[in-house]
Amino acid sequence: MAHTFEPAASGRSKCRGCAQNLPKGELRFGERLQNPFGEGEVTHWFHPACAAYKRPDAILEALAAAGAEVDRAALEARARATLAHERLARIDGAERSPSSQARCRECHQPIEKGAWRIRLVFHQEGTFSPGGYIHLACREPYFGSGDIVEQVLHFSSGLSAQERAELQEAFAD
Ligand SMILES: [Zn+2]
Ligand SMILES: [Zn+2]
Repeated sequence: MAHTFEPAASGRSKCRGCAQNLPKGELRFGERLQNPFGEGEVTHWFHPACAAYKRPDAILEALAAAGAEVDRAALEARARATLAHERLARIDGAERSPSSQARCRECHQPIEKGAWRIRLVFHQEGTFSPGGYIHLACREPYFGSGDIVEQVLHFSSGLSAQERAELQEAFAD
C-alpha cells in the first residue's frame, strides 16, 4: 500500500518524529513500511510537519497523490529543504548538555556541561535511534546549512519558553 494522509481516528497514537500525541481528527501522515518482524506492512504515523523534516522522501511520494485537505506547498518546501542537506533529517531538537561526557560528532571535542547541543537520530528499518550530539556552533560544518533554528525548535518540545528564547539567542550569536 502507498503512504497516506488521514485524520487520526483516536487521540491515542503518537508521532514517530516528535513523540507527541496525534490529536483526534487532525490530519496525520502514515508511512507504510515492510514489517521488519514478519509478513506484510506496518504504518508509522507522524504529524505531517514532522515527516517533512524527518522522512522527506516518504512524504514527497505521498504528496503527489494527496488531496486538497493537505497543505502540499508548505510540506513540499520543507521536505525539499531537508533533502538539500541530507543530514538535516537527523535533527531531533536541542538541549543543554547535562554533563561534559558526550563528544561532538563533528569536531570530536567534549560538549561542556551546560552548553547547547543538538540531538541527532538515525533512521534504520523504520526505527529512529539516538545518534549522538553536535555543538550548536558545529551545525554549519556538520549539516552543510546553519539555517536550522526553526527545525531545531520544532523538535525541542521539552524546553520551557525561557529556554527556547535562550536557544534562539544562542543561534543568533
Ligand atoms: Zn510530530
Ligand atoms: Zn563540535
